Amino acid sequence: MNVILFGPPGAGKGTQSALMVEKLGMAHISTGDLFRENMKNETPLGKKAKEYVDSGALVPDQVVIDMVDDVLQKLGGKSFILDGFPRTVPQAEALEALLKKNSMNIEKAVFFEVPQNILLGRLTGRRVCKNCGATYHIEFKPTAKEGVCDSCGSDQVVQRKDDSEDVIQTRLDAYDKSTAPLKEYFQKTGQFVSIDGLGETDKVFSEIKSVVAP
Ligand code: ADP
Ligand code: ADP
Ligand code: ZN
Repeated sequence: MNVILFGPPGAGKGTQSALMVEKLGMAHISTGDLFRENMKNETPLGKKAKEYVDSGALVPDQVVIDMVDDVLQKLGGKSFILDGFPRTVPQAEALEALLKKNSMNIEKAVFFEVPQNILLGRLTGRRVCKNCGATYHIEFKPTAKEGVCDSCGSDQVVQRKDDSEDVIQTRLDAYDKSTAPLKEYFQKTGQFVSIDGLGETDKVFSEIKSVVAP
């Protein structure tokens, strides 16, 4: 089964995706990760995305859509997770055409229900490994040794530049304005499922599993 994960920044999409890759063998497509990778390598795509990502604005739809088009064509047969895409109604419409072109189908769009007041603490406390992408939290999921990644041993566990408080506010505003309307969109297509994003990571994962691998 192929799925979309959506919800506000900090809702836990990346964390749950990692578990779905590990425990369900799915392929993870994160548009945020792809932009950061391209920015790190200073590719033309990375240069195009940088000003938007750094300021917390959404990258223009067509740039994201073209990138996802490329990725879908290279997937092979694995079940996949779209994490952070689509993020606007025009992206969702474009995705339908891309899926059709590739004879693919997405069964569910899983919405992470997390109250606004929880998100800020999750985002300001988030730390990520620059080497392997593993995600931590200073309070809820600290590394065993400060600044050192449990997964790969690199000492580059850092705060994302866009996880500063002012940029977070811009991202939350972009979510409210452009992404929240997708709830209604996926209710209409019949793909919408809501899960409770609060509580232990394992508890959230079992709820996702009951949707994705019932
Ligand atoms: P988070 O997981 O915290 O919500 P992401 O890693 O998904 O953040 O995204 C980081 C940034 O990448 C976004 O703030 C935005 O600038 C850009 N981005 C990622 N996905 C999209 C998308 N589908 N459309 C537009 N911009 C995107
Ligand atoms: P998203 O990809 O939706 O932006 P992340 O998966 O990166 O969200 O999670 C944001 C932050 O919250 C990370 O620091 C992560 O470790 C932490 N986190 C994720 N899930 C939970 C949870 N269920 N309880 C507490 N903290 C969580
Ligand atoms: Zn690492």
